Amino acid sequence: MADSPATNFQELKSSQFQSYLQHDTIVVPEDLEANVLVTTLDKVYNWSRRSSMWPLLFGLACCAIEMIATAASRFDLARFGMEVMRPSPRQSDLMIVSGTVTKKMVPAIVRIYNQMAEPRYVLAMGACATGGGPFKEGYNVVSGIDTYIPVDVYVPGCPPTPEALIYGLLKLHEKVERQSIAKVAWYKKNTSEAVPVPILGPDVFDPRQIEMIREHTLGAGAARSTASTGPARVLPQLLTPEQRAHLEEVRARFLAKAKQPA
Ligand code: SF4
Repeated sequence: MADSPATNFQELKSSQFQSYLQHDTIVVPEDLEANVLVTTLDKVYNWSRRSSMWPLLFGLACCAIEMIATAASRFDLARFGMEVMRPSPRQSDLMIVSGTVTKKMVPAIVRIYNQMAEPRYVLAMGACATGGGPFKEGYNVVSGIDTYIPVDVYVPGCPPTPEALIYGLLKLHEKVERQSIAKVAWYKKNTSEAVPVPILGPDVFDPRQIEMIREHTLGAGAARSTASTGPARVLPQLLTPEQRAHLEEVRARFLAKAKQPA
């Protein structure tokens, strides 16, 4: 007959316990042996973080309904200490991007992400948040939120079921458990910077690319002149081969600059 779970647990406990107690450097009085647990700081630190990871309360589209169902009684996020969805980014550890990310919404999402304190994590829920989904290449939708903020876990599906979201959350817990307090970025100086908030104009763009966009649209001379004389008039026109070559050159310069370490 197979051992009962209780027997297995007792065996596991005694074997683990004995291996620690037999260690030369740890002396535990006999009467305290049943009450002593030896572990590492990383283990306790990560266990407490992953067991109380508060998600940020916001939803963008249909996937949000599945996220809400995950938190309700049938699936019950409280099992993971995650039922406290916070309405404030300053009290949240996890941003679940659940739904279609429109260009209009991107600046707000990035601003909220910047307001979250470290350690912070992002889970992209569903095909839309992961890569644009059924609206990819749409005029008003971005092809995945990871173009703008770093994503830790992707949950595919349209929409993903609550079980899929829970699986993604468990994967995030595993990631948290692999981190070490000595190496994590948020305890080091100047390693956690705010993500530049994209600007919504005729299209959404990264403010770090503004120089390149000016050169693209106005030409090198006009880009210089706007600094002193204000915005130049831009008339729609087809690109000449020389302009195309110039554009490629500017793009290559921008990519080379972006690859340089900060
Ligand atoms: S992935 Fe599907 S279910 Fe989720 S927001 Fe997009 S269209 Fe809606």
